[in-house]
Amino acid sequence: MQLAVASGKGGTGKTSLACALAQALGPRAALLDCDVEEPNCAIFLEPVIESETDFSVPVPVIDAAKCKGRGRCQQVCEYNAIKLFNGKPFLFEHLCHSCGGCVLACPEKAITEAPHPAGKIRRGRAGGLFFADGIMNIGEPSPVRLIKAVKVLAPASGAKFLLLDGSPGVGCPVLASLGGVDAVVIVAFYADQRPLSEAFFVSPGLILKTLGQVPEDHKHCPILAAVAFYRALGNHLCKP
Ligand code: SF4
Repeated sequence: MQLAVASGKGGTGKTSLACALAQALGPRAALLDCDVEEPNCAIFLEPVIESETDFSVPVPVIDAAKCKGRGRCQQVCEYNAIKLFNGKPFLFEHLCHSCGGCVLACPEKAITEAPHPAGKIRRGRAGGLFFADGIMNIGEPSPVRLIKAVKVLAPASGAKFLLLDGSPGVGCPVLASLGGVDAVVIVAFYADQRPLSEAFFVSPGLILKTLGQVPEDHKHCPILAAVAFYRALGNHLCKP
């Protein structure tokens, strides 16, 4: 089963919940940190990293000798990463999302692709738990390809439960994190701006009341959420 943990914004406790669930499930689970712009599951789980590989994305390379200045690349690029100046294409590499559209669109086959270093992928174990994360290089325009690369590590782990710590927000990185999963847990920010002592007042009843209409066969979900939350708080408070 694949379960993603998401939130509408950062700082809600998404990572704490994902890590607490992973620890509760132990070796039956694998945790993939897909929040590649700010991965911090490793801070909580302290995994032993067994391998680290570089990750690259394809970026266009324009052969000026072949280009006839037709501008199809400029037309298809949704990110305004290619512009024609005096009939010659210029690539703004840090706007390019590596979609490959311009490569396909060029009638002269004047655009090819070359790898561009975009980050790294780490694999390891936290206790018996399989762990992987992606770390995007600072300044890269899009984390989507790296997220997808982290997600395909899942089958190799052989775990029964696959937990994904998704990206915060609601944009493309979130959709890349959530695609294909069986269920998503959305973390809201009950504890926002409150001291830790008050966070323990977040009860299953309070969650149920806030959600309003909850189907009978899902009424156990607020209990599971509260228990995982208490566990995360407990782990934090017990840290030396
Ligand atoms: S690969 Fe996609 S995003 Fe990059 S320049 Fe070409 S069309 Fe634009």
